[in-house]
Amino acid sequence: MKFSKVSEKFTEMSQTRKRLELTAILVDLLKEAQDDLKELVYLIQGKLAPDYEGIQLGMADKQLAKGLSAISGKPQSFIDEKFAKEGDLGNVAKEIMSSRAQNALFGEEMTVKRLHQQLMNLSRTSGKGSVEQKLKIYEDLLLNSTPEDAMYITRIITGKLRLGVSDSTILDALISAFADKEHAEEINEAYNFHPDLGLIAELLRSGEIDKVRAMGPELFVPAKVMLAERLPGVHEIIEKMSGNSAFEFKYDGIRTQIHKKGKEVRIYSRGSEETTKNFPDIVRNARETFTCESCILDGESVPYNSETGEMYPFQMVSQRRGRKHDLEEMEKEVPIVVFLFDIIYLNGKQLHKVPYPDRRKILESLFTEDDKFKLATRLVSSDEKKVTAFFNEAISSGCEGLVAKNTSEQSIYRAGARGWLWIKLKREYESEFNDTLDLVVVGAFTGHGRRKGTYGALLLASYNEVDDTFETICKLGSGFTDDVLFNLPKKFADKIVKDKPARVESKLVPDVWIEPEQVMEVKGAEITVSPIHTCDYGKVEKDAGLAVRFPRFTGRWREDKKPEDATTSKEILEMFNSQKKSIK
Ligand code: AMP
Repeated sequence: MKFSKVSEKFTEMSQTRKRLELTAILVDLLKEAQDDLKELVYLIQGKLAPDYEGIQLGMADKQLAKGLSAISGKPQSFIDEKFAKEGDLGNVAKEIMSSRAQNALFGEEMTVKRLHQQLMNLSRTSGKGSVEQKLKIYEDLLLNSTPEDAMYITRIITGKLRLGVSDSTILDALISAFADKEHAEEINEAYNFHPDLGLIAELLRSGEIDKVRAMGPELFVPAKVMLAERLPGVHEIIEKMSGNSAFEFKYDGIRTQIHKKGKEVRIYSRGSEETTKNFPDIVRNARETFTCESCILDGESVPYNSETGEMYPFQMVSQRRGRKHDLEEMEKEVPIVVFLFDIIYLNGKQLHKVPYPDRRKILESLFTEDDKFKLATRLVSSDEKKVTAFFNEAISSGCEGLVAKNTSEQSIYRAGARGWLWIKLKREYESEFNDTLDLVVVGAFTGHGRRKGTYGALLLASYNEVDDTFETICKLGSGFTDDVLFNLPKKFADKIVKDKPARVESKLVPDVWIEPEQVMEVKGAEITVSPIHTCDYGKVEKDAGLAVRFPRFTGRWREDKKPEDATTSKEILEMFNSQKKSIK
């Protein structure tokens, strides 16, 4: 498939804001791809392979600007100026290639497979002289492309393709193109255990639906983690679970999925990134503790003082993510204990369909607790009084609250799904209007007076998982330390976009739009009805949405959450409704 065909469709996609239209264009494109489908799917994602393979293109804007300067024969300052004006190196590449149209397409015409292969070569180039080699590949790519191709290729390499299609939209389009609608749920479940859209695309296209349906937990493929719904009180949870409930401490650390086979151990984050290198201690401990042949475990890593049994704040763990140096020092300063609460694979056998009580038993028989690995403390009960006392115990031990786990025969492990099989109860929900929300930054307003030079407020949104959109819910201007406040423009500089991002639904027009990527934790006083915000628009009142009243930043950037992991609009609606109940 010619890449110029793909560019054409990408441009069509950028001209529509409607999800149905987007999906329709995508379906056409996927159907045309034939043998290039797998590579095409990755390129639509702006990637070369699934995230967990850790393949990175690794070229900064600055380096590419050098390449553009070489191709155009213009000084680098000329390119830099254009880039500063356009805010998008892709546009600059297009302009430059247009002005050299007479040279275009002398070489081989660019195909999807060839582009993917070349980008793979680019990503694999390392060591001495690699910057030059990478630039050479980039220049070759551009010289064999149309100006429009050059724009998209540049955006892919800089990690800013931003077509406005999430993985779930691509998956929907794949199902429409190559499968029966009746298999949609199973295909979604398969994807959650094996989040490789390229592979799933290829299997669906070749009619191997059975291979897709058989996908479950697999060693060294990070499963999307199971998530919890929320309810405001013990009573509501027990009622919802119809008496089939166990309660576990809700530890405030980092979700940790451990895969082990023989001596090989790998660790994945909540967002399915591999974080093995950041936790050599957990790797070593897992090798020693788990003598089984192979397993996949789910738990929460928490900084812990083994002498006093004290748990430390989450921030101490988050310092370790992405940090490669001084790990030994950090290990000593912040020893980690992993509280395990699930097992989904053991010795070659998938356990995701085994009910939770049996999975827990298997987990209990797997190891002896020590300072490195513990079982999540739990109470199996549907007695409101006992559970309330247990909740208070969790809080006084430094936990965030409880996670209720359904204990019925149906209590399977549902990868990636927020469902009523797990329900969280956090301390904040106990006091009426005091929830923390994880919201996505979608825009910012220029600051004035004391805030001159930075932003006065951010525009935040919740995630609507049905429409795959981000709906605004508040303007946030408080809770920032000066350091954080004055660093905001820098923090968001490479996320600023000219127009409203395709998936953002907003009535307000901020001074700058921000690509929905960053999640932040916000504390609010109340959920109220608001005509200016689009969260759950029209669901509570005609011509109005929902908003957070008195939002404050808690200081916690949720780097571990993707925008699609933010608090959903559905959750906001549930919070609004349960608030109403408690007012009565
Ligand atoms: P939240 O991030 O507020 O949606 O809460 C869900 C998170 O709580 C999970 O992703 C885990 O990281 C964490 N967690 C802590 N303890 C447990 C537990 N016992 N069971 C399940 N999740 C837990």
